[in-house]
Amino acid sequence: MTLSYIDEENGAWQTYLAQIDRVAPYLTHLSDYIDTLKRPKRALIVDVPIVMDDGSIQHFEGYRVQHNLSRGPGKGGIRYHPDVDLSEVMALSAWMTIKTAVLNLPFGGAKGGVRVDPRKLSTRELERLTRRFTTEISPIIGAQKDIPAPDVGTNAHIMGWMMDTYSSTQGHTVTGVVTGKPIHLGGSLGRVKATGRGVFITGRHVANSIGLKLEGAKVAVQGFGNVGGEAALLFAEAKAIVTCVQDHTGTIYNPNGLPVEALIAHVEKHQGVGGFADAIAIDNEAFWDAEIDIVIPAALEGQITVDRARRLNAKMVLEGANGPTYPEADDILIERGVVVVPDVICNAGGVTVSYFEWVQDMASYFWSEDEINQRLDKLMVQAVEDVWRCAHENKCTMRTAAYILACERILLARQERGIFPG
Ligand code: NAD
Repeated sequence: MTLSYIDEENGAWQTYLAQIDRVAPYLTHLSDYIDTLKRPKRALIVDVPIVMDDGSIQHFEGYRVQHNLSRGPGKGGIRYHPDVDLSEVMALSAWMTIKTAVLNLPFGGAKGGVRVDPRKLSTRELERLTRRFTTEISPIIGAQKDIPAPDVGTNAHIMGWMMDTYSSTQGHTVTGVVTGKPIHLGGSLGRVKATGRGVFITGRHVANSIGLKLEGAKVAVQGFGNVGGEAALLFAEAKAIVTCVQDHTGTIYNPNGLPVEALIAHVEKHQGVGGFADAIAIDNEAFWDAEIDIVIPAALEGQITVDRARRLNAKMVLEGANGPTYPEADDILIERGVVVVPDVICNAGGVTVSYFEWVQDMASYFWSEDEINQRLDKLMVQAVEDVWRCAHENKCTMRTAAYILACERILLARQERGIFPG
């Protein structure tokens, strides 16, 4: 199926379509509805003009895509990155549809983004950009319609501006319109660390299932931000050894284990792992040759190529990032016996605690961090067990199993709702 507005051959959207094609043979009972997954329900492209600090006017391109709303309001982050484009946002929104369904959360899938390098903007420019972008997408977002959250290049502070701007358009405070907000604006305890925590919870569970001991296991992490940093910390706490870390400033290596807390403090101070004293700097490509047990891609999509999959010396891949593995590379990892815990479950901790945040905002009643972490553990362990069982029953990978479970839930909802006007 081709969409007239997408003409690339090898982007993230094509990766997603290939994943749907792989699961289609397992969904023959719902085949009348499967095309609903191969196109977004709604895609909005907006112009975001802002006055820069020097008085000039610059235009940025923004997007909000709602891939599927069959099971509830749209849910998905906002990405600020210079490479953001419609195809990428479509793919990310589709993965949110799958993710919310695997976790059985009452949401559909959506995603947004602005084609901008936020590091090149001043705080005032970033605020203007966020407020104008929010105004432009206001007609289609809302606490019962579509609920954004942070992603690469955005954070709680930016979510606070989004909530405030949207509330101004409505004439009253609407805390539930975005999640990942600061705590004193209706944010949830545990939200910032939830995605990294979810990577650890799913990784621990699958490691246990394949007989891989975390104590002493060697871990490499690509991307040392919100997700990669917290996952690395929890693995180190479980006595795994984080030997190799890569971010946009370079790759560092210490065969005896990097002191993760000190590295987090270094990144906070220097905005990257580059220059960290307690490690040696290695070539970026050497990251994929390191002798390890677990690799956690937690940066951007399209990182595990065919070539890197052939070279990878790991027993397990934990997809902290969205879409880090090309479908052809997936095949090589299967052949080589590497277990891949797919993004749609591995990094679903964030959206799960976002769901908790939304529920707390709706009730105006807030839970303790312990309660949130316990609920997160329970939902994620349940989901990863379901996926593991489905993979065994169907003799397929965890990715295909996650898609079988999710797509079945989404398409059953579509079937039961029917096609309007019938
Ligand atoms: P972040 O902005 O906090 O961190 C991103 C990290 O990636 C940084 O360390 C950055 O240096 C690194 N990076 C960027 N470009 C790179 C490159 N070319 N090579 C190596 N490293 C590079 O973002 P985050 O919130 O940690 O998100 C990371 C990934 O996890 C993204 O794919 C995102 O979609 C996914 N994710 C995030 C959440 C969440 O709650 N934050 C939830 C689900 C999935």
